[in-house]
Amino acid sequence: MIKQTTAIETFPCVDEDYIRGLNEHAQAAKPISAQRKRELIAHIKKLLKQQDAVLVAHYYTHYDLQELAEATGGYVSDSLDMAKFGSEHPASTLIVAGVRFMGETAKILNPEKRILMPTLQAECSLDLSCPADTFVPFCDEHPDRTVVVYANTSADVKARADWVVTSSIGTKIVKHLHERGEKILWAPDKYLGNYIQKVTGADMLIWQGFCIVHDEFKSHELEKLRQKHPQAAVLVHPESPDEVIAQADVVGSTTALINAVGNSPANEFIIATDNGIFYKMRQVAPNKKLIEAPTGGIGASCSSCAHCGWMAMNGLENIATTLEQGCNEININEQLRVKAYQSVKRMIDFSKTL
Ligand code: SF4
Repeated sequence: MIKQTTAIETFPCVDEDYIRGLNEHAQAAKPISAQRKRELIAHIKKLLKQQDAVLVAHYYTHYDLQELAEATGGYVSDSLDMAKFGSEHPASTLIVAGVRFMGETAKILNPEKRILMPTLQAECSLDLSCPADTFVPFCDEHPDRTVVVYANTSADVKARADWVVTSSIGTKIVKHLHERGEKILWAPDKYLGNYIQKVTGADMLIWQGFCIVHDEFKSHELEKLRQKHPQAAVLVHPESPDEVIAQADVVGSTTALINAVGNSPANEFIIATDNGIFYKMRQVAPNKKLIEAPTGGIGASCSSCAHCGWMAMNGLENIATTLEQGCNEININEQLRVKAYQSVKRMIDFSKTL
């Protein structure tokens, strides 16, 4: 399916309905009893030690996993920080609870380590909406543009890029490139691309990918919710639609939004990102009120309802199975990994200059 996005450009882009359909088939980890949960946690703790492994979990995974990662000397963060933590930690195996591109990023940065995931079926709609077989030829058609891709992409797409960025540093890198007179080809998230374009004024050709979770926040319903909670600060992840971003008091990466809850004088927050992040937000500000931004109301289809179905596939049962069997290992062709590493490293080196 070809999507017309500007008067002059057509983008080869995967069908949105197809991607939403894939997400609807994601099977969340089954709920377990309190007794089973205790047994599994004890079992996983033992296995982590036996296997010289450490658990790193994304902010959007189930609270139980985030709690377990912290209780066992692991880490909870965004995808790049998870991978960076893995580089600094002495464990020879990383258990990456998140979605597939996060396991790949961990492998790109840690080729000598064994990277295991609770499931290899956990996808990401941003990654799916930017397949390498259409993205690479598109880049080749625009040799005058610097290719900047978001971390939520496959190793193949990262390998084709000049830069990999996260939402916390994307604006600064594009501003830097714009000041050097470079034109940008941005992928895959259209909303984050639009936001960065507005902030930096850069010449950006923006791929039309999207996140199924953030895409569902509704601006009209948000206006109504703000009227009910006039004191609440509105925190928005920039993968959200432009009209939702326009209502934000703070627009930022997952880490920036968590910090905003801790540092803001407000006592009430409306939050437009995956609700798995509430675990960390409650840690930094246990007495503050957190309200989910609306995904229902006018125009709602709400298949994800502020929680990523693919993230929800990670559970205690499949972490235990992965450790027992050593299954779901991430492997990347070395030539490809080295190429992808160069574009990730460019970002890491740039971050050290800030
Ligand atoms: S929340 Fe969105 S961006 Fe994050 S993994 Fe899920 S689909 Fe991808």
